[in-house]
Amino acid sequence: MALLSIKLYPDPILNQVCSEVTQLDDNIQKLCTDMAETMYKSRGIGLAAPQVGILQRVIVVDVSDERNELVPMINPKITWSEGKVTSEEGCLSIPDYRDTISRKKSIKVEAITPKGEHFQLEADGLLAICIQHEIDHLDGILFIQRLSRLKRELFKRWFNKQQNNPEGLD
Ligand code: ZN
Repeated sequence: MALLSIKLYPDPILNQVCSEVTQLDDNIQKLCTDMAETMYKSRGIGLAAPQVGILQRVIVVDVSDERNELVPMINPKITWSEGKVTSEEGCLSIPDYRDTISRKKSIKVEAITPKGEHFQLEADGLLAICIQHEIDHLDGILFIQRLSRLKRELFKRWFNKQQNNPEGLD
C-alpha cells in the first residue's frame, strides 16, 4: 500500500473529465487500495481518482463512523435519483473550506467492484451526498462550482486571502 498525494485546488487536473476504466487489472486494484488508505489517512469520507492525479473513473467512499464500510466503485453511474437535500460539504482538495449546497436526496448507482463484479446500490443521506460529490469529481466538477455566483465570489475571496496569508495571521 502507498499513500498518494492529493491534488489541491486550483490544480487544473481537477477540472478534467475522467475516462471509463476498460481493463480491470492489478493496477486498478492497487489504485483502489492506495486511494482508500489515502482517504482514511486524510480523514475523508470519499476520494476520487483525479484527486490523486489519475484521470480514470474510480472512487472510494466510507461514511461510517467506525471506518469499516469501504465501498470502492469503478465506473459508477447514477441510474435514478429523487428529492433534494441541502448540507454542508468539504473536499480534501480544498482544505479548510466548507459550504452548503444542494444534492439529490436518494440515488441508485451502478458500479463495478475492483474484482470485476457489477453491483447496484441504493443510497440516501450522507452516503448519497458523498457518492454524488465523488462522481462530480470524475466529471471535473468541484463542489464550489455548484455554489451560487455570490457564494463562489466569497469562496474566491476566501481562497485568495488564504494564499496571501497562509498562516492565517490576521
Ligand atoms: Zn471532493
